[in-house]
Amino acid sequence: MDSRRIRGPEGAHGNGGAEAGRAAERRGRPSPPEPWSRRDFLRGIGAAGVLALRPAWLKAGIGPAARVGFVSGDVYARHDTGEFAYESAKRLEAVRAGLDRDGLLAKLVRIEPRRAGLEWIEAVHEPVYIETVKKDAASGARELSTGHTLICRDSFDVALWAAGGALAACDEVMAGTVERAFCAVRPPGHHASARVGMGFCVFNNAAVAARYLQKKHGLGRILIVDWDLHHGNGTQDIFYRDGSVFYFSTHQWPWYPWTGAAEETGAGDGEGATLNVPLPAGSGDPEFTEAFERRLLPAMDRFRPDFVLVSAGFDSRTGDPLGRFRVTDDGFGRLTETVLAIARDHASGRLVSLLEGGYSLPGLASAASAHVGTLLEGA
Ligand SMILES: [Zn+2]
Repeated sequence: MDSRRIRGPEGAHGNGGAEAGRAAERRGRPSPPEPWSRRDFLRGIGAAGVLALRPAWLKAGIGPAARVGFVSGDVYARHDTGEFAYESAKRLEAVRAGLDRDGLLAKLVRIEPRRAGLEWIEAVHEPVYIETVKKDAASGARELSTGHTLICRDSFDVALWAAGGALAACDEVMAGTVERAFCAVRPPGHHASARVGMGFCVFNNAAVAARYLQKKHGLGRILIVDWDLHHGNGTQDIFYRDGSVFYFSTHQWPWYPWTGAAEETGAGDGEGATLNVPLPAGSGDPEFTEAFERRLLPAMDRFRPDFVLVSAGFDSRTGDPLGRFRVTDDGFGRLTETVLAIARDHASGRLVSLLEGGYSLPGLASAASAHVGTLLEGA
């Protein structure tokens, strides 16, 4: 995998900033001040923030590693929608190969996935939709009848395994076997609402996990952080009137699925528990840092989640073929630091992250490594 090609624009961008500073010095003026967002970020997360200056995949070797669970498996390759599909089994192969290449895979605690019980799918999705998915898949249809989601005969079953992988991770974190976990599962979930599957998504894995944590483990407040390129319209819709699940999303705007305006803040009991930060194409680490530091952190000081779920989409990385964001691997490391800080401050460190998008195979691999490398840092 040649990640150097993908990293090219980042290097050019970073060198450009340093060059501007040196040019200012040569002209006898002081360098431009450090951006406030960076300064505040380091102040906000203390010593851990200093480590964010290092490439994420180097950080895991510093200090005692956290116990981090990892859910994946060959079962997810059975959701096979053809060799030209963006959302393919090659994505999980790339993630696993990247973690192995960077020496992270051996440090993870393997958690076996399982098939989610239908009662947990029904806690989020309407029975008529679940039945539709089952029938569509069994019929051999190439596409889900509710939207543009490619399927095959095994897709209903594999979607149960995707949600079940998230539940297995939640169980291990709640049992204290691991402190946090990353689930490289598919199909992804954040576009799936209670009654409509769309955008590569069948069942909403993060939403099912949130309801499971509440009903099975008795937790009250759940935070779902979604840094995927796309707005998680399904997750927002499911919890829009529910103040017990806070949904935070950064996403390219305007862009598919055309939801996630800043004015969409929840309704009824859920008023104020949806926080959308739509960002223009071209946004990257500075804009994401500002959103996470200036918007999410203060909101969480008020909401005080009992558990943090991350809809970890890496199509927001620079070079992704489906979008125009420019988040770097170090940027994903810093975002991971922020969600870990929230988990530590409010949720006894409990965090489970679920793969959503990410369609450049080398980009996905290195961004997921940066994310997992940061998860492996000591508590
Ligand atoms: Zn996406």
